Amino acid sequence: MKPLPTVKCPTCKKAGNWFAGPYGPFCSKRCKLVDLGKWFSEENVISEPLRPDHFLEELEAEEKSQDKETQ
Ligand SMILES: [Zn+2]
Repeated sequence: MKPLPTVKCPTCKKAGNWFAGPYGPFCSKRCKLVDLGKWFSEENVISEPLRPDHFLEELEAEEKSQDKETQ
């Protein structure tokens, strides 16, 4: 077996073969969560958080209005 390459944790920049662990390129669960939180907060700044139920409501409203037009 080849040894896994050493990578730097994207969050804390600590080097190690983190791919061997359960948290991907992150050295720990904490660092993974920190990175995920960072992404979520960035997305929330750009736009509203995605809500599937909101989309469904809009789709249903659209379908109803189309029904009215055709009937
Ligand atoms: Zn880390």
